[in-house]
Amino acid sequence: MTSPNDDRKYWDENLETQSRADWADLKLRLLQQHLRHAYANSPYYRQSFDAAGVHPDQIKSLDDIRRFPFIDKKILRDRQIAVPPFGDLVAVPERDIVYISASSGSTGVPTASPFTAQDFDAWMDYEARQFWSSGLRPTDRYCHSLNFSLFIGGPCVIGAQKLGALCIHAGTVPSERLLAIVRQFQATAIWTTPSYAWYLGETAIKEGIDPKRDLAIQRIFVAGEPGGSIPETRQRIEALWGASVYDYYGLSDIFGSCGGMCEEKHGLHWAEDHILVEVLDPESGLPVPEGERGELVLTTLRKRARPLVRFRTGDIVSFTNAPCACGRTSQRMLGTHGRLDDMLIIKGVNLFPSDVEAVARRDHDFTGEYRLVVERGDDHLDHLTIEVERAADTGPARDAELAHRFAGHLKSVTGITAQVVILPPGALPRATHKAKRIEDRRQGIWS
Ligand SMILES: [Zn+2]
Repeated sequence: MTSPNDDRKYWDENLETQSRADWADLKLRLLQQHLRHAYANSPYYRQSFDAAGVHPDQIKSLDDIRRFPFIDKKILRDRQIAVPPFGDLVAVPERDIVYISASSGSTGVPTASPFTAQDFDAWMDYEARQFWSSGLRPTDRYCHSLNFSLFIGGPCVIGAQKLGALCIHAGTVPSERLLAIVRQFQATAIWTTPSYAWYLGETAIKEGIDPKRDLAIQRIFVAGEPGGSIPETRQRIEALWGASVYDYYGLSDIFGSCGGMCEEKHGLHWAEDHILVEVLDPESGLPVPEGERGELVLTTLRKRARPLVRFRTGDIVSFTNAPCACGRTSQRMLGTHGRLDDMLIIKGVNLFPSDVEAVARRDHDFTGEYRLVVERGDDHLDHLTIEVERAADTGPARDAELAHRFAGHLKSVTGITAQVVILPPGALPRATHKAKRIEDRRQGIWS
C-alpha cells in the first residue's frame, strides 16, 4: 500500500474525506451489526439489554443508542472477577483471542482488554492512518518509548511499522539510555507523555546535549495527560526540542490511540469508524451542545472480542464536527480537560488542573510547573492555593508582582480567586511519567 518517500496527503483518502452524511451512514451500519453481535454472543449484554427492555433491532438512527444502558470501569472489573479471566462481556470463543492489554490496576484489579486477530489488525490500520495524518512517513526513524508490559500504548509501534517507518522499540528505559538511543540512531520521531517529553528535554540540556542541535527529533507524539491538548504546553515542549508536538488520546479498554492530531493541530481526529462518541452531561446523562464540555461515553463499532456499549470514561472532553483545514472530515476532540475525578469545585465553580496549566505555561516568567493545593478554611469555605515557580532568569525581587499577575490571569480565565505562591525554580517535584498536580487537603489525601 505504501512505498518509500510516499508523499500523498492521506492514508485512505476516500474514507478520511467523505461527507458527514457518509460518516453517519457508515457508523449506523456498523453500530447495528456490532450490537447484534454483542447481543447474540455476550452473556452480559444479552442479560443487560433484556433487563432494560432494549434490542439491537431498535437501532434506526445513531441517537437510538441512548436507549441502551451505560457500563463503566466498575462493571468491567466486577464481571471479570465474576467470570474469570476476561469477563462475560467477551463475545467470541477464547480460541479466537490473540492479544490482551491490561490497565495498570492502580485503582483496583487490572481490567484486561482482549483482541481477536482481526481486531488487532484493524487497530493497527487505524494507528498507521493516524500516524500518517501527523506527518510520519516511511522515511522516518520512529523511537517508541512507551511501556510494552501489557500497556495498550505498547503495540502502537506496529502501526508505525505498517506505515513503513523504521521503528526503534526502545520501551521504557532510563532517560540517559533513551537519549543515547535517540542520538545514536538519529531518531526523527518519538512518543511519550507531555511531562516526560519536557523532562527528557531538560535532562538532555543538563547533560550538555542541545536537543535542537544534537538530536534529529522533528515530531513528538504525546498522550496520557491533558497537557498535550493545551497549546501553551505543546509550544513550550516544541521550543525546547525544536520539534512539532502532536497530542494523542488512548484508552486502556479500547485502543492505544482513539484520536490524534493532524498537521493543523486543531483538535484530535477521532477513530470515527471504530468508536461512536457521545458527550454527555455527567449529572443528567443528556448530550451537551457541540463544542461544550461533557463526559466522554464510547461505544465500540468493530471490536468483536469485547464490545463496549456506552462505556463511561470519566474523561471530560469537547468535540466538533466542523471540517478541518487538512481536508479530513472526521469529528475532532477539541480538548481533554481532565478526569471527572480531578475536577475541583471551588466555591461552586468547576476547575480542572488543565485550566491552571494553560495560565502557567503561557507566561515565560514562570517555569511552567505548578501544583494546586485545596484546603478548607476556618470559615468552612474552600481555599485554593496555586504554587508556581519563577523562571531561572527572574529574580525573587519580583515575586509579589508575579503572584499578582498570575492570580489576575487565572481570575480572567476561570473566574476563580486563588492565592498564588511563587517558589524558586526546581522546587516542585518533576514527573517522569504522569504528573500529580493536585493536593486536596480537604480529605487529607493526594488525588
Ligand atoms: Zn485535520
